[in-house]
Amino acid sequence: MSPSQETIPDASGAAPRELSQVLAINRSTKAFSSYAVSLVSLPAGALYAPITTATPGVKAYTSVQVSETAHIELNSDLVFCNHSCDPSLIFDMERNEVRVVDERALKEGEKVTFFYPSTEWEMAQPFDCTCGTERCVKRISGAKDMDEEVLKRYRLNGHIERLLEQRRKERGQNGNANGHPTNGHATNGTA
Ligand SMILES: [Zn+2]
Repeated sequence: MSPSQETIPDASGAAPRELSQVLAINRSTKAFSSYAVSLVSLPAGALYAPITTATPGVKAYTSVQVSETAHIELNSDLVFCNHSCDPSLIFDMERNEVRVVDERALKEGEKVTFFYPSTEWEMAQPFDCTCGTERCVKRISGAKDMDEEVLKRYRLNGHIERLLEQRRKERGQNGNANGHPTNGHATNGTA
């Protein structure tokens, strides 16, 4: 992989963009009704914004989960990225990056959204989603309560993958699982 593939596929090729250059907030006086839109068009998978201002936090409606036990506050307008069941962005908390989803491009003027259970295992404030997309899963309370078949449609953060693996094991031990052993090493033959 050449280093050039790591750079932002930004037409200007300019220095890193400020968040205010890529994100605008549509403020509402109604609670939880403000939202953010993109000021730029970017290809699928492109870097939208690095996460540079996060500080450790406690689980709250504004926090983002970054590991099995830790949460951060974004301390930026990225906090206005609302949930959607068919999101335009992914929050990658291992690389501290917000990127365009891999499935489609981001268009200027589009709402910037991400799939909250991709970072949140158990949310501080569950809610009923009204994203209105075909994919809508309705109740959003964190990955903990979701079916893996549904979660498979999304890029999940590493800690969510690990917590799902743990849940799978626990259900297996309890003997009430639909899960069968997923250990694929037995026939692998390589050491
Ligand atoms: Zn939805």
